[in-house]
Amino acid sequence: MSETITLTIKKQKNIALIAHDGKKAELIEWCKENADILRKHSLCGTGTTARMITDATELPVKGYNSGPLGGDQQIGAKIVEGKVDFVVFFSDPLTAAPHDPDVKALMRIAQVYDIPFANNKATADFLIKSSLMDEEYDHEVINFKKNIEKRAESLDCGL
Ligand code: PGA
Repeated sequence: MSETITLTIKKQKNIALIAHDGKKAELIEWCKENADILRKHSLCGTGTTARMITDATELPVKGYNSGPLGGDQQIGAKIVEGKVDFVVFFSDPLTAAPHDPDVKALMRIAQVYDIPFANNKATADFLIKSSLMDEEYDHEVINFKKNIEKRAESLDCGL
């Protein structure tokens, strides 16, 4: 069994949209500017962000819980399940958030699963204008079955 498996980010991406309160206006504006592109993909987001984007742009954005109530963790779980494969998260670097550990966890799991992740407008602009937005993209991620097999062997407690 190979150490990695090839996963495919399809032409139609599953995009998660998240913004901290101080960045919500900026993300809504970005969604307006890029509505024609975003419309081609499947959109979700943390509760308040999703609701505000839909209200302002009429883009359908499936809402999870609000970020501080577990929404970031729900989106992280969707990455693990292969159901979210692109994240735009305008986090606020100047304000402390009560759910900072959840934000870190989401960033980490996006790294583990090699998911495109924009944490500011410039990165989001570069990503959304990439020719890969209109293509399938194959990438290598850790083979979780192999990983479990190896860990169970190496951690064998002699039971
Ligand atoms: P919200 O959550 O969209 O419900 O405001 C975002 C966050 O703070 O992570």
